[in-house]
Amino acid sequence: MLAPSFAVFQLVAITHVTAIDVARGTARPDMTVLIDGPRITAVGASASTVIPGGARRIDGRGKWLIPGLWDMHVHSTVPTGRALLALYVANGVTGVRDMGGDFATIRRWREEIATGTLPGPRIVAAGPYLEGHSSPIAHIEVHTPDDARRAVDSLTVLGVDFVKVHSALPRETFFAAAREARRRHLALAGHLSRNVTVVEASDSGQRSLEHLLGFVNVCSPAESLSFAAADPLRRIVFNSCTSRDQHAVYAHLARNGTWVTPTLTPAWEFAVLPKHDVPGDSLGRFVSDSLRAYMVSIFDPPPNLPPEANILGQQMFAKRHELVLALHRAGVPLLSGTDAPMRNSPPGFGLHEELLEFVRSGLTPTAALRTATYEPARYLGALDSLGTIAKGKLADLVLLDADPRVDIANTRRIAAVFTRGRVYDRAALDQLLAEAQRAAR
Ligand SMILES: [Zn+2]
Ligand SMILES: [Zn+2]
Repeated sequence: MLAPSFAVFQLVAITHVTAIDVARGTARPDMTVLIDGPRITAVGASASTVIPGGARRIDGRGKWLIPGLWDMHVHSTVPTGRALLALYVANGVTGVRDMGGDFATIRRWREEIATGTLPGPRIVAAGPYLEGHSSPIAHIEVHTPDDARRAVDSLTVLGVDFVKVHSALPRETFFAAAREARRRHLALAGHLSRNVTVVEASDSGQRSLEHLLGFVNVCSPAESLSFAAADPLRRIVFNSCTSRDQHAVYAHLARNGTWVTPTLTPAWEFAVLPKHDVPGDSLGRFVSDSLRAYMVSIFDPPPNLPPEANILGQQMFAKRHELVLALHRAGVPLLSGTDAPMRNSPPGFGLHEELLEFVRSGLTPTAALRTATYEPARYLGALDSLGTIAKGKLADLVLLDADPRVDIANTRRIAAVFTRGRVYDRAALDQLLAEAQRAAR
């Protein structure tokens, strides 16, 4: 039996660190952050902050401190899912929003994580999602508006954190689900129903829209022509073209405060088809055979694509980058989400790739960082306890060896992770990774 890979200290002082204010994009050098159990008890200049006796000191000189990262679109109850949870912590992801899974299992894991027997992130979960037909992921099949009302009521009894809706809900059924969720004070989030528009979903109170579904690309006539020739799968994933200005739609979402979770990282797999390799494959050692079989079962690539179809796919992917930047500039709030576990988004690792996709879209590294820190906290109505480094908030923190505002890839250079009163230094994080790799064999 291995010793626990983390250390539990009641009092921790991170000294002489540069603390990043993700809300403002500024940094305060030479700060000391005091942690008492799960909470931050002081943030102040090192020169004037008194460190209590008995505190474990962590030298933050030459290091940067950011709030713990959130992956706002994952599925955790997958084959070997329990062993995958440590990968989030090992990657600095201290919170996830589970967008569909078995709620009893998630509740059990949450208790194990809370008591410290299982290393894992905080989990905000939908439980089974509402869908208009059967699906391989935990769901409730609903057809009529009455079905939708009953389903939302049953989810209320189950105690889920929010309601997730999927693509095939009939129009009136979607509206009924949205009304009932509002009546029950539950947030509603998920796919855009194919039978309503982005604006209608936003006006119905859908709190987040996933995968950019329903968002058309603004294209030149030449682009419209070539994209129309794409295979049906890619036309669904990357949508069609319009020459009409979409700013009224973006402004509408911004006014309503509707969040968008682009999930660009998993979509890269669709962009490069029929080419088989994606960057995420380099992390295959963390994926068990049963998980790999599951990932193949939920996404079977279409056969007989011409070998050069990946060129068009990547051009379509580039339009999604343009769309993300347009949404950002219009003031639509964005969330980082990876749909983990997918081939290009292994749990935890994928979040860093998604941050990079935001920067590739044209966001600054600081704005990208906000989609995984400040914005998730704001989305969850939890800015009083999460999202920034401040006295009284939860001490979910990531210590970095380099400044992420200079290069977003620096979020991968993790020196330590703090969550729930535990300190995972580099050696402890490496042990989590080694254990996850062993579990996948
Ligand atoms: Zn989805
Ligand atoms: Zn999903």
